[in-house]
Amino acid sequence: MTYRIACAGLHMECATFLPHVTGRDVFEAGTVRGAQVIAAFENSNTVMGGFLKTLDAAGATAVPILHADGGAAGLADQAAVAGYRQEIVEGLTALDGSVDGLLLHLHGAMVTQDELDPDAITLDAIRKAVGPDLPIMVALDYHANLDAASIAGATAVFGYRYSPHVDMGATGERAAQCLLKTLAGDIRPAMALARPGLILPSIFSATDLEPLGSLVEKARRMSVESATYADVSLFAGFAYADVPNCGASVVAVVDGPTREALRLAEGMSQDIARNRDALSSAAPVHSLGEGLERALRIARDAERPVVILEHADRANDSTHGLAALLGFADRARIAVPFLWDPAAAAKAVAAGEGAEVPLMLGGHSAPLAGDPVPVTARVEAVRRDFTYRGTGAMRAGSTVRLGDTALLDVRGMKISVTSLSQSAIDFDPFLEFGLDPADFDIVLLRSKTHFRAAWEGFAAEIVIVDTPDYGPADVSKLPYRHATP
Ligand SMILES: [Zn+2]
Repeated sequence: MTYRIACAGLHMECATFLPHVTGRDVFEAGTVRGAQVIAAFENSNTVMGGFLKTLDAAGATAVPILHADGGAAGLADQAAVAGYRQEIVEGLTALDGSVDGLLLHLHGAMVTQDELDPDAITLDAIRKAVGPDLPIMVALDYHANLDAASIAGATAVFGYRYSPHVDMGATGERAAQCLLKTLAGDIRPAMALARPGLILPSIFSATDLEPLGSLVEKARRMSVESATYADVSLFAGFAYADVPNCGASVVAVVDGPTREALRLAEGMSQDIARNRDALSSAAPVHSLGEGLERALRIARDAERPVVILEHADRANDSTHGLAALLGFADRARIAVPFLWDPAAAAKAVAAGEGAEVPLMLGGHSAPLAGDPVPVTARVEAVRRDFTYRGTGAMRAGSTVRLGDTALLDVRGMKISVTSLSQSAIDFDPFLEFGLDPADFDIVLLRSKTHFRAAWEGFAAEIVIVDTPDYGPADVSKLPYRHATP
């Protein structure tokens, strides 16, 4: 029997303290429909890539509807989300019972102006449209904020095990395999969720930090070593979304009674709660001044670059680190990849390669991002409507869209300015401009955990600095209204 499986996605991570709203125009730049979904995602390390790979290997037919992606920024616009939700529901309704199941990719930490858990509302709307019997398997981000209501519309849910998210494709495969096993009658999945009551800043959600790494490994072993079908996902949660279900959770899917799923989820959740203090202080965090001094000192004798991590920047345009580093441009080789600044990128692209242009760099998105930094920049390279396929462990095969982009030289500092916001996480931001990351003393990054796949082991040291921005390491400083820290 050849199964027909509907596939869809609606994805965004929302840092609700940021003052700007992500509109439909941003979503549309990351949206594909129908057969475009297959062309965009096949052979990529993405959830949809994993769905397609598993269906293809099993001889099942993928029926793609839509995949919309708003990236990671502030609130998602309510009308945009409602529109994509409706497109998915109408797409499923139009299929009129001709599919055997649905594979769905959601993030789990999307928030709109009106909805605190829009992913739950999307799932419920889909469930209402397709009825109680169609299996719906959902792949979620490891940073999902979940409670039982969030996943009530799903048959089973699966989260990435790792951050950096090197297993997005593998997570799609886990969801698709569970669906195929269910359709074949090999298993009857039951699911349960437990919450340890823990809110972690993103930097401490890196799964190569301890004790998180050991807890994640335990969840993986509970899955692969179980005598009967079981899949346990540990979700770190997303501290910068102010929602009632903000925080870590565990979801277990088993072939068996719900009480067995609950036993596994609660056991894992208690393990997390027992490690609360160690999880909440997993790596040193420095002030900007202290971190800069440390980075410059280490860089003097190091053969590899030191990474300064301006992790509190949630929009890729903060200038706290950039402004401080400019004072050292004559003493160290410094790179600042992927600063989000559409106006500076447009001006540099218009001026052309070789031109000298006065620019006010960064700091345009919001007050806490810092002031724009005045510079005179030489335009070293120009890329119009720049899009490339990622090569790093996490973004392998994924389409990275930057819009008009320019590489600038400011007193020897190499700064790339982009029109679309993307975090620099791997070596692509250097290689795409013919630069060698090893040629720099200091690299300023804004990633939280994803940079570690490329930079941990390569960088001489990773220096985490806290800046007065929207994503502080100390989450008790956040003005929560809905979350309980
Ligand atoms: Zn994530």
